Amino acid sequence: MEDTESVAEAVSVRSATLPAPPAPSLLPRTFDIAVLPGDGIGPEVMAEALRVLNAVIDGTPAVRLAFQELPAGAGEFLRGGDPLPAATLDACRQADAILMGAMGLPDIRWPDGREIAPQIDLREQLDLYCGLRPIHLYHAVDTPLKRYEAGDIDLLIVRENTEGLFSSRGRQPSADASEVHDVMRISRAGSQRLFRAAFEEARRRRRKVTLVDKANVLPSMVFFRALFDEVAQDFPDVQTERLYVDAAALYLIQRPETFDVIVTENMFGDILSDLAAALVGGMGLAPSADIGDQSAVFQPAHGTAPDIAGRSIANPVAMILSAAIMLNWLGDPQTIAAAARIRRAVSRVLTNSTSRTAELGGHLSTRAMGDAILAAL
Ligand code: ATP
Repeated sequence: MEDTESVAEAVSVRSATLPAPPAPSLLPRTFDIAVLPGDGIGPEVMAEALRVLNAVIDGTPAVRLAFQELPAGAGEFLRGGDPLPAATLDACRQADAILMGAMGLPDIRWPDGREIAPQIDLREQLDLYCGLRPIHLYHAVDTPLKRYEAGDIDLLIVRENTEGLFSSRGRQPSADASEVHDVMRISRAGSQRLFRAAFEEARRRRRKVTLVDKANVLPSMVFFRALFDEVAQDFPDVQTERLYVDAAALYLIQRPETFDVIVTENMFGDILSDLAAALVGGMGLAPSADIGDQSAVFQPAHGTAPDIAGRSIANPVAMILSAAIMLNWLGDPQTIAAAARIRRAVSRVLTNSTSRTAELGGHLSTRAMGDAILAAL
């Protein structure tokens, strides 16, 4: 079996500003985890992630996870009028980490037509600037590309999460406007911290960073590239590459094996991470983490999938792998070991090409996939 440990090391950003682990003691170390199941398939995949987390942590007496389930999402908006209640946000700020299912439903919108998106509000409120989207091919049957075997595709998209083209999100155009502008906001400080995080990730991987921009057209992207070049000088041991976003889309299909870390602005990262997920089996297998200097949210890259919600066929693997990233990020030797156990279990299950949920042509229900991963633990 191929070594999946590189995926582990890929996503271990933790801010130096967080408190150091306490001195060893006989008492278990407890991590407070805010749990936001959300809408659609969110609660379905979350249930499996919690089962796996409980099982893996039961075997590590020195660590405890204290879960606190909190309301947020489109359903909560319908119930109480606020998709991200202040009490939920407060509890998220206090927690050691936040585990999230998925949020938002297509028919539940603000009066101006935008979808309810508390997951994006949370990124902005907690300044979770660094979106990590690891992409790993577990089995050749899951890729639509010919020639690729397990492990051949292994890359990490680092997406800016708090500015870029999403920064116009909250503005409301007037109904009689003759034109509307969305602003691509690129700040010096926001870009520098993102690029630093990307280079640090690359140092834990294969030491290559590809910048994806549109510097041939947009002045904001010329600025973005200049900042990248500046930060790159501090990482002479990391190889760099610069691509326009259109070429990056082409090369992701033509030669995905040449990518290690891809760093890009918010909207380009949003689009390319779905494209990259499609290369390794789709949204059901794509985990993610949104990291800031004080807080971090771990959630699958997919949305609430209303087309399959309530049918017990959602793939919980993306959620379970996101929980593993959380354990890794918590940074305790025991949680890091537990994260590696989860990844090995997932890898073992996916090595059997028939252990698949419906969207990948298999017969396993959400629960049965959770059972298979628990058994592999
Ligand atoms: P968002 O905009 O909220 O990110 P989206 O529009 O990208 O959401 P998703 O909810 O991610 O859409 O769903 C995209 C497609 O992928 C749908 O067909 C959905 O059924 C499928 N899908 C997403 N997540 C899963 C999953 N965990 N298991 C199986 N299929 C999934």
